[in-house]
Amino acid sequence: MVVWEITKNSHVNQRWKAAEKLAKNHHVKVYHIRYDHKSQTTALHYVVVGKTTEYLVIFDQKAPNVWWCQCKDFSINVILRKKRNYCKHVLAVKIALENNTADHYYLTEKEYKALRPNLFFHQED
Ligand SMILES: [Zn+2]
Repeated sequence: MVVWEITKNSHVNQRWKAAEKLAKNHHVKVYHIRYDHKSQTTALHYVVVGKTTEYLVIFDQKAPNVWWCQCKDFSINVILRKKRNYCKHVLAVKIALENNTADHYYLTEKEYKALRPNLFFHQED
């Protein structure tokens, strides 16, 4: 998990532009997952649909500035090399939420689990 903090320059770079495009074109999906065993609890999973695959973005609801993304860029440049603290998917989620362009889905835990295999592997349809 990485603390959310974007430098002022980041909005002009290519990564930001790519993220804006993803956000505007409804590539950000928000899954509200209701847990069966604790009916009061809802988890939020953000999924960013890329060209060939979909990436899961998670943040800690108790600490909304702490983010994690499933992509290679995040693993290498954020976690390993500490070059920056975001990837374009994290940016896309943030932009989509701010501009209200995310698509929301409300599912039970069971429904989400049934859907989950398709979240991570690209399938031709
Ligand atoms: Zn990412």
